[in-house]
Amino acid sequence: MRLLILSDIHANLEALEACLDAAPEYDQVYNLGDIVGYGANPNEVTKRSRELGSIFVRGNHDKACSGLSDLSDFNPIAGFAALWTREKLTDDHLQFLRALPEGPVSPSDNLQLVHGSPRDEDEYILMTSDAYTILADVTVPLTFFGHTHVQRCSLLEKTDEGKTFAPNYKSTKGKQTATLEVRPHTKYLVNPGSVGQPRDNDPRAAFLLYDTEAGLITFYRVPYDIALAQEKIFSAGLPERLAIRLEEGR
Ligand code: ZN
Repeated sequence: MRLLILSDIHANLEALEACLDAAPEYDQVYNLGDIVGYGANPNEVTKRSRELGSIFVRGNHDKACSGLSDLSDFNPIAGFAALWTREKLTDDHLQFLRALPEGPVSPSDNLQLVHGSPRDEDEYILMTSDAYTILADVTVPLTFFGHTHVQRCSLLEKTDEGKTFAPNYKSTKGKQTATLEVRPHTKYLVNPGSVGQPRDNDPRAAFLLYDTEAGLITFYRVPYDIALAQEKIFSAGLPERLAIRLEEGR
């Protein structure tokens, strides 16, 4: 099975389409949440995500933008964008977002999907020490997560103290890939990176493909029309910072 894993699209249609154009053949899509929030195309991106027939977990922005949670944890810019998004979304898409399941969701015995972390859907796994603690506790070999917008993998073999794999791309230009072999007796905590608002100093859209039979995870970075996504944010009257950070990739 070839699994296309997308996370944190954040209503960025240009980035989503670039990822789908660049993606190799796949059998199924797993979507790790934050479909909307920040970007200017919440309806278009929700529609496209639904058409992909994904297995989903909900993100904190999906909850806030659909009115399922309040905005107390949001900074003013994120809060403004969430209210703008709530206003724009059609009733049908609002209902879809409200009904998204809380992680962990387990599509098969050996993997689980979460937005933040297996122990709290809103937790940011930023520190490698936290990643290793979580890896020591999980019972499935593979956990895919999002929320931090950083493309990275932490892994724990039975006998070691944990390692981190970060794709080592030659540059931040063009389409590039990095492959990680999935080994037995090892647990993995894998973040595909953010499709629509990367925060790892690489402005390109991020996703991954997991080929379960070959035992390979391939990380992707693909360029997209950042200028167009920015222009839409400006003309929507969304905070300028949301546009500027796209070209910075942070
Ligand atoms: Zn997010």
